[in-house]
Amino acid sequence: MRVGVLGVGHVGLVTAACMADFGHDVIGYDDDGHKIAALRAGDMPFYEPDLDRLVADNVSTGRLRFSGDAVEALSDREVVFICVGTPSREDGSPNLAYVQAAAQAVAAHARGPVVVAEKSTVPVRTGERIRQALALESQARQGTAHHEVVSNPEFLREGSAVEDTLRPDRIVVGADSTNAHEVMRRVYTPQLERHDCPYVETDVKTAELIKHASNAFLATKISFINAVARVCELTGADVETVADAMGHDPRIGRAFLNAGIGYGGSCFPKDVEAFVHIAAELGYDFGLLRETQRINREAKVWPVHQLRRLLWNLQDKEIAVLGVAFKPGTDDIRDAPALDVIDALEADGASVRLHDPVALDQVRGRFARAELYEDAREALRGAHAVVTCTEWDEYRKIEPEQLAELLAYPVVVDGRNVWDPAALEAANLRVASVGTPFSG
Ligand code: NAD
Repeated sequence: MRVGVLGVGHVGLVTAACMADFGHDVIGYDDDGHKIAALRAGDMPFYEPDLDRLVADNVSTGRLRFSGDAVEALSDREVVFICVGTPSREDGSPNLAYVQAAAQAVAAHARGPVVVAEKSTVPVRTGERIRQALALESQARQGTAHHEVVSNPEFLREGSAVEDTLRPDRIVVGADSTNAHEVMRRVYTPQLERHDCPYVETDVKTAELIKHASNAFLATKISFINAVARVCELTGADVETVADAMGHDPRIGRAFLNAGIGYGGSCFPKDVEAFVHIAAELGYDFGLLRETQRINREAKVWPVHQLRRLLWNLQDKEIAVLGVAFKPGTDDIRDAPALDVIDALEADGASVRLHDPVALDQVRGRFARAELYEDAREALRGAHAVVTCTEWDEYRKIEPEQLAELLAYPVVVDGRNVWDPAALEAANLRVASVGTPFSG
């Protein structure tokens, strides 16, 4: 099939490469000329495991192309996936201007009928607005083509986006006509032949809600275990053992029960906020999610409270911060909890020494005084304390004895429970680990 992908960011580029891998003829279009130029030169605009290989393989077969020319990219496509950003506005509502612009571009340039698939995360009822935008733009250009809108929410996770897209745990397609469902079936048949998974067919609104409900549920699971962690700290119980034992219950599951300094990234914070906002607009106060957000804000200030408890004043203290990416496996720092931690440390007058294995380029120049280190051990050498903000595997390889040797003061605030607190204490370190009783 002739597939267009509008917006080749984290979602769009992976979608384009995977659709090409399934045998479709794919054009990725973006209005960011630099991104298109980089992709045409064979460079990846961001780090994502295996994506460079998948893109290169499919470009070499001719099934995948990139274009910054909307006419070339959109005129003859049967299906166009909208993968543009939907960032939060000041009031928490999602900014859907990019989605509208994308829909207008399809209507302006398509020569025949197109199925327009929302992959961007959008609030329920956005499909109706896209339909309206398509119709208005077509009419304004005296077009006669009847475009259809489907919701096809994306569930990939950065860091394992290629694997998640090649072998998803479900595909959700919301459409309001048999024809649109049939077209989407044709799009996904080659994928389902390679990897069978539940294929959920529903109406557009239900599909839109599935995405917001899924992300809000996962964020709530994280906040739930972080609230349990606070109780563990106050009682001397151990949150990891609590989470492991809870996780044995298949109704609960162990995933997303890792206590830490809160969720971040480009999706959970904005999607929870958008869901609260759309629910309020519809007349429902989603108090549960507002509490999820409150607990997450509390989780992000936890490390700085611990440092103040252990070091007293942070003015002129050298603090090593390990990890800035919002999670391991990505260089994405959008809404990363580490950013809040570093801002708070700098506001207290501390000097931050920052390490991350892949995300340093993203923060260059962002902070007033933070020094960036390519080597985690160099960041630790002579620091008054260390805070872990991302659980990169390489940090686990630093032995507690080595930590004790490198640090000027023996203070560890383990925001991601990278190390075993008992082993840290055995190395005479003063430790704050999330959800375990504090030493020091
Ligand atoms: P991104 O910022 O990485 O990419 C968006 C791309 O769209 C950019 O390259 C931008 O230049 C392009 N763009 C914006 N307006 C355009 C226009 N009018 N025409 C052409 N290109 C345009 O964003 P992302 O992380 O890929 O997220 C995209 C959407 O997918 C969001 O709604 C997000 O919530 C959702 N989503 C993201 C993830 C994730 O893990 N990143 C997972 C699931 C869903």
